[in-house]
Amino acid sequence: MHLAKLLVQPGSKLDLSVHDPRDLAGAPPDKPTRLRKLSEISAEIEALQDKLYAGQRHKVLIVLQGMDTAGKDGTIRHVFSAVNPLAVRAKGFRAPAGEEISYDYLWRVHRQVPRRGEIVIFNRSHYEDVLVVRVNGLIDASECARRLRQIREFERMLAETGTTIVKFFLNISREEQGRRLQNRIDDPAKQWKFDPTDLEARSHWNDYMDAYTTALAETSASWAPWYVIPSDSKSTRNLLVSAVLRDQLSALHLEYPQSKLDFKFFRIE
Ligand code: AMP
Ligand code: MG
Repeated sequence: MHLAKLLVQPGSKLDLSVHDPRDLAGAPPDKPTRLRKLSEISAEIEALQDKLYAGQRHKVLIVLQGMDTAGKDGTIRHVFSAVNPLAVRAKGFRAPAGEEISYDYLWRVHRQVPRRGEIVIFNRSHYEDVLVVRVNGLIDASECARRLRQIREFERMLAETGTTIVKFFLNISREEQGRRLQNRIDDPAKQWKFDPTDLEARSHWNDYMDAYTTALAETSASWAPWYVIPSDSKSTRNLLVSAVLRDQLSALHLEYPQSKLDFKFFRIE
């Protein structure tokens, strides 16, 4: 698969309009093959995660962002279906409330970062503080620029202290979002997911794309890369996210810890 072309090159200009939400990026064109490939990669991720957990050394943070219906929940469900729940945690971020408001915007985020041996998936994240907050005019351009610098430095600190960070922008088209929202209205099993405020965000689509463009371009770094994942097809999205994650985990060269015990002294009677 052509994963490198999904990477937002650090320091380069980003044009989201050249990222086609229907692109296969080298994924198999037929769905059954994609699903088979996904289950192969899931098994690889499970094996890698077992070593990550056993080693209790590396920390892995995955950030999922995207417009409503882009599939953040579905990605978590499918990509992490095989991993050991003891060592993976998903954390969703909604609008800050209660004591969260009393602190800086990174406070609640920092408290949720992975510990050694753990994978944490952020379903939305500190990026909302330069996306929805910016689009809704709660901060101006100069405050947004300051936050982008702070986020860069925050993520750099996490990386320098042993955290592998991978960030995914699930890129759906406005048309596909329209179909999925309509489906939430029509399908009684999906109506619980429908939130009328999603329509408000949809009406500012271009502002969101501009905010995403700035955020991704300014914060994609070698220690915290952004990948733009074509997400109009769910199975393609799941496969591409899995493949990137598998590659990132492989690059850690994980091994089971070597025991210091001399096993010739042990015999089970
Ligand atoms: P959902 O992910 O669909 O459950 O919705 C969560 C909502 O919380 C979305 O509408 C987000 O835009 C909103 N949200 C998340 N983080 C923030 C934030 N830091 N400030 C304001 N709104 C936020
Ligand atoms: Mg929602």
